[in-house]
Amino acid sequence: MLALAFALVALAPLPGAAADVPLRGAWRPAVAGEEAAAVRRGDPRLRTFDPARLQAFGTGTAGNWVLLWPSRDAWPAPPFVLEAKGAGLQTLALQVPGAASARSARASRIDPQAWPGHGRLAFVVDVAPAPGQALRLHVDAAGVIAAPMTFALQPVAAYLRADARWLAFASACLAMMAAMALMALLFALRLRDRTFVYYAGFVLAYALILGLQTGYVFEPLGWGWLSDWLRTLGRIATAASVVFAVLFADRFANLRRYLPTGRRPLLGYAGAITLLAAIGIVPGLDALARALINPLLVLGGPWLLIASVFATVRGSRYAAYFLLGWTPLLVVTVIGGLQPYGLLSGWTWAGDAALAAGALEALVLSLGLADRSLALRRDRDQARRLADIDPLTGLHNRRAWSERLLALDATVRRQGQPLSLLFLDLDRFKQLNDRLGHEAGDAALRAMAVAMRAELREQDQVGRYGGEEFVVALPGVDGAHALQAAERIRARLDARAMQDPAGATPTVSIGVATLGPGEDLPSLIKRADAAMYAAKAAGRNRVEQAG
Ligand code: GH3
Ligand code: MG
Ligand code: MG
Repeated sequence: MLALAFALVALAPLPGAAADVPLRGAWRPAVAGEEAAAVRRGDPRLRTFDPARLQAFGTGTAGNWVLLWPSRDAWPAPPFVLEAKGAGLQTLALQVPGAASARSARASRIDPQAWPGHGRLAFVVDVAPAPGQALRLHVDAAGVIAAPMTFALQPVAAYLRADARWLAFASACLAMMAAMALMALLFALRLRDRTFVYYAGFVLAYALILGLQTGYVFEPLGWGWLSDWLRTLGRIATAASVVFAVLFADRFANLRRYLPTGRRPLLGYAGAITLLAAIGIVPGLDALARALINPLLVLGGPWLLIASVFATVRGSRYAAYFLLGWTPLLVVTVIGGLQPYGLLSGWTWAGDAALAAGALEALVLSLGLADRSLALRRDRDQARRLADIDPLTGLHNRRAWSERLLALDATVRRQGQPLSLLFLDLDRFKQLNDRLGHEAGDAALRAMAVAMRAELREQDQVGRYGGEEFVVALPGVDGAHALQAAERIRARLDARAMQDPAGATPTVSIGVATLGPGEDLPSLIKRADAAMYAAKAAGRNRVEQAG
């Protein structure tokens, strides 16, 4: 949460830095073998564009020339910085008029000569060009996506400040995603729940995409070895993020239950993305895969969103979390997918917003996963409680009572204390049922449970042994005191029965036994049961002590 707040604060000053010098621009495809000096502002083949808006250039093998100059030819005081944002994997080379050679830079390479590009490319210009001249950039998109870019001129100090802010912002967002993914993996191990693996897979794949897109993996991370298989890795990460997102949504939002018909096409879509990514690894087919995967991604985002809207409406609580976390991410993904086609080119913040959206999404889904884990545990505890309790009387059932008796036995043996047992059976209960009906019988059973609890201590374990038979374990109680407790219960029911001429309150016969030295529990229960039968034989509504 803190990291996100920090990230948002760092992001706030990013769009449209105030120190930017207003720029004009023009571009055209380059001709093979052409000298940079031949490209001039008056060239009729040049097309003008607004450098403050996202602009994509041609994909020709000779690259493109981009000329940039300040409006009214008011160059800032040198040294100043020319900044290109959004270049992606394209290579940029700057030719300053009058300078001997061009300087090139690419975000996906660690170049000791170039300024480190943190989410952008930067060139320092030491000598301002003369009025009427322009900075000449060669933009090479051969073999990579011709990602749309914006350009800005800034004083060095302003650039450095914005750069430091961006680094702090990007680091916070990526660190948050990494931390959430790591936590999810630990949960996956502990809870043996695949949902956490899918979540971690998605977050890590998305963080990797962001790291590659912004060049963060090269600067500041310095993973230069990645640059050789950048495109393959990018495609694998993209496919992985979509596939994991679908698998995660499927389990997390429980689409099997809330979207049974819409679920199959969605999983099929994830399969198609996987296939395209695999095709992209085959040499010769990679261009085809690239052409297909971008439109598919634009399609898939809203699809997943619509699926989660449906699941939410149909009552999937976790689909709502998914919606909340997913929407901002999808919005920026869709915008990013449309921008290479020249749409929404004024929304230059979309690239940075993807980082914030990724972090937000990781956070929201983590909260959702925590909520889901809590609910699952509550359900499990509830099920366990229900399995232990007799629904009619609210007492422990025979199995649960036997478990507790075992635990009590261990305790009293360790502490050298006595343990007594009562075996209770309602008198002529069958008759009561037959005369007044089952309902009255049930009520009598419940009243019996209340009567026993009223006469016993907190630590005494009361159970319904079956039918109209009850058992009580009295830890730390010897035979004489157990006899007293039994007598209290009997007398309580007897008094009630006297006041009930309708005969809806039965009396009770009770057998009492106390654990002897070396005696086991089955023997104790058997003796108490036998004593109860002796009480029946002696006329009922009695307490008998086992011999
Ligand atoms: P005795 O004094 O010898 O114990 O006579 P009894 O009729 O109580 O003896 P018996 O054990 O033969 O009868 C138990 C009856 O308890 C049988 C059944 O109709 C009734 N019973 C068992 N479980 C329930 C229950 O959950 N609800 C109701 N209403 N009756 C039950
Ligand atoms: Mg009975
Ligand atoms: Mg009975």
